[in-house]
Amino acid sequence: MADQAFVTLATNDNYARGAMVLGKSLRNHNTSKKLVVLIGPQVSDPCQCVLKRIYDEVRVVDVLDSGDAAHLAMMKRPDLGVTFTKLHCWTLTHYSKCVFMDADTLVLSNIDELFDREELSAAPDPGWPDCFNSGVFVYRPSIETYGKLLEFCTEHGSFDGGDQGVLNGYFSDWATADIAKHLPFIYNLSSIAIYTYLPAFKQFGGNAKVVHFLGKTKPWSYTFDPKAKKISGSEQDVSSNPTYLLEWWMLYSSSVVPMLHEQYGDQTFHSGCVEFLCSEMMTIEIEQSESTLSLPHSLPQPSSQERKQKWEQGQADYMGMDSFDNIKRKLDTFLK
Ligand code: UDP
Ligand code: MN
Repeated sequence: MADQAFVTLATNDNYARGAMVLGKSLRNHNTSKKLVVLIGPQVSDPCQCVLKRIYDEVRVVDVLDSGDAAHLAMMKRPDLGVTFTKLHCWTLTHYSKCVFMDADTLVLSNIDELFDREELSAAPDPGWPDCFNSGVFVYRPSIETYGKLLEFCTEHGSFDGGDQGVLNGYFSDWATADIAKHLPFIYNLSSIAIYTYLPAFKQFGGNAKVVHFLGKTKPWSYTFDPKAKKISGSEQDVSSNPTYLLEWWMLYSSSVVPMLHEQYGDQTFHSGCVEFLCSEMMTIEIEQSESTLSLPHSLPQPSSQERKQKWEQGQADYMGMDSFDNIKRKLDTFLK
């Protein structure tokens, strides 16, 4: 339906990557709804271009200089910056009904049936189930509601400092008024729920439709080796939600990273995928050793094959043949 949309928000390039994966996952499961992403002005041009390829509508929201009600509200509550940006989703009045989804969510199957629900429908928060989690919610865009939300925000603030506190304050009868507004947990399965209630996860987890990577460590905080399908990095234990995290990275590395590469061209950017870094460097490496570059020959030079192996084991000769200067020199010959 043309007047219904999934809406997300990304104020920077990291969350923009999340939004790209989310958008792709919605498309892959054949949604019939429009896709809208609200972005902050800090999102880089290449990321904006990729978002435009995935989303029907990419709308820049700049509460800092918009001069509208949110700007005024923001002057009183500068601590609630991102929250005010998120509330902007209520201004999308060219849609009659929307489903907001955090940029750190991933869709596992078609969820268009969510549009049968009314405002404000959401799933319980795993930490405090009398509150709803604001990572996935059904709402009706309305300037009137938008105004009331901003007013509520300015007057009462947010008990948790974010949008979830504000929205639970405003839609405060969610827990008691209408059970139809309680979305099943499978529409917003947070990764922390897996280890806090493992038997339930074993019983019901297979039906999950949306995963939410809530908390400090986001999928893009890790690094990924697409060849070995291995996720690493970050202080947090990767094993807490290995399957969903892997699913996120598989989608990101296969469908999003190639688009990012196209947009960035030869500008440097970090996809977070080890393979891309290594294989890009490797190509340069091998060609370099076969070319006539004058390298220091005081030590016996390893063969291309040996060097490839070393690269793959993460033992590049950064101080010698694989030094940045040599790579840059090769790149320069490329560009000429
Ligand atoms: N967000 C954003 N930029 C930020 C922080 C948050 O665009 O710097 C958006 C993004 O859509 C994100 C949502 O606000 O998914 C809520 O934040 P987050 O997911 O980090 O909170 P959590 O779900 O971990 O409580
Ligand atoms: Mn989130």
